[in-house]
Amino acid sequence: MSTQSLPHVTAELLARYDRPGPRYTSYPTAVEFHDNFGPDEEAAALDRANAHPDEPLSLYFHIPFCESMCTFCGCSVVIRRDHEAAAPYLERLVREIELVANHLPDRRKVIQLHWGGGTPNFLSEKRMGELFDTITKHFTLLPDAEVALEIDPRTASPSQIDFLRGLGFNRVSMGIQDFTPEVQQAVNRIQPESMTRAIFDRARERGFESINADLIYGLPYQTEATFQKTLDAVVDMGPDRVAVFSFAYVPWLKPHQRKIEPTTMPATEAKFGLFIRALETFGAAGYQQIGMDHFAKPGDELTRALERRKVGRNFQGYTVKETGDLIGFGMTAIGDVQGSYSQNVKELGEYFEAIDAGRLATQRGILLTDEDKARRFVITALMCNFAVSPSEVNERFHLDFRTHFAPELAELAALVSEGMVEDQGDLIEVTPLGRLFIRNVAMPFDRYLRRKNPDKPVFSRTV
Ligand code: SF4
Repeated sequence: MSTQSLPHVTAELLARYDRPGPRYTSYPTAVEFHDNFGPDEEAAALDRANAHPDEPLSLYFHIPFCESMCTFCGCSVVIRRDHEAAAPYLERLVREIELVANHLPDRRKVIQLHWGGGTPNFLSEKRMGELFDTITKHFTLLPDAEVALEIDPRTASPSQIDFLRGLGFNRVSMGIQDFTPEVQQAVNRIQPESMTRAIFDRARERGFESINADLIYGLPYQTEATFQKTLDAVVDMGPDRVAVFSFAYVPWLKPHQRKIEPTTMPATEAKFGLFIRALETFGAAGYQQIGMDHFAKPGDELTRALERRKVGRNFQGYTVKETGDLIGFGMTAIGDVQGSYSQNVKELGEYFEAIDAGRLATQRGILLTDEDKARRFVITALMCNFAVSPSEVNERFHLDFRTHFAPELAELAALVSEGMVEDQGDLIEVTPLGRLFIRNVAMPFDRYLRRKNPDKPVFSRTV
């Protein structure tokens, strides 16, 4: 989005659309996963997946360990100072890989590998090497595979970057959040800019194909002036992609967020102003907005895919690859296999117990109905490509879009009259204004949301 095309947003409009809503990293969202989907159901999904030997897989590995707790954190983490504390977990991870691989004797090709956390680079080089060897013993990384991991620059060293590149990683995401010392102090994450730049530059020198930076807006003490300095510094570093996440303040789910004094966080209008700064800054630097909170350089494959409306999304983020089935390993990891989502147990002890008993660690999940799949397609198209083609939906799902989604289209009409959506008959397109409220644009197509109790907090706010 260029600076010229940035729409004006009034305080009244912001107030009306700032409501709780999902981020749609999946549809149905994880809130709908239930206990009737367990290890047996996951095993059956893996067995079905094995019947497609030529389709490549995506693999996600959750490494939950961190040295200290950032107060804004929304991830599943285990805080440990001693890095060798990860050893028993890695033993189970290796066993889980073997358990899963037993269900996939014919299907081993991998197009996406991602280590997330927590802090994957919390692991010693020896442990990372062992884990990588186990993965490649059981699965085959395709030559064009995206091999990615998340890095905390505070825990990284230049030699660790060299090691990871040598191991075969070609993409890296670095958590930055905000370079302002006062903000860092307030969120218990001291990470000087010079430290991040040293790791970033090393990754560049070592030829990582894609280097991503993660920022967060809505943190305590952030102001437009201070956040602008962070944005300028990030543009100067020149990452290939940038994620600018809205801080999800959900203390009922993440009690450690109670350490944040609510009055120190920017209120709705001020928070929105921070995101506008990001839009302006990355737009002026030539980046293209991808989905609700990502930016990519002009030549990036995501930018090219957006022009063809071919950006996709899975739990590893936005992608242009036909990723097919995604298998999640480790505690809390989420998978997406053969029309079902599944999530592993959330506690370390439960994870050890399941793996030690020779069971898959699936705790809950959901088998998608045809209705879910059609709605997932519509929501993903809106969230990733800012447009959905009714005729494509008709063709893929054998339905009549206008009749099937009549109540949803009636609800969408309000957004059309706000100037957020244009209904051009064979294309429903989100305008630059609507992109700022893309979660709200997708929400009418969420069948489950209609049934929620609006007084019970579930989701973070959309602004
Ligand atoms: S380093 Fe990342 S995962 Fe770990 S506590 Fe901080 S934000 Fe959470």
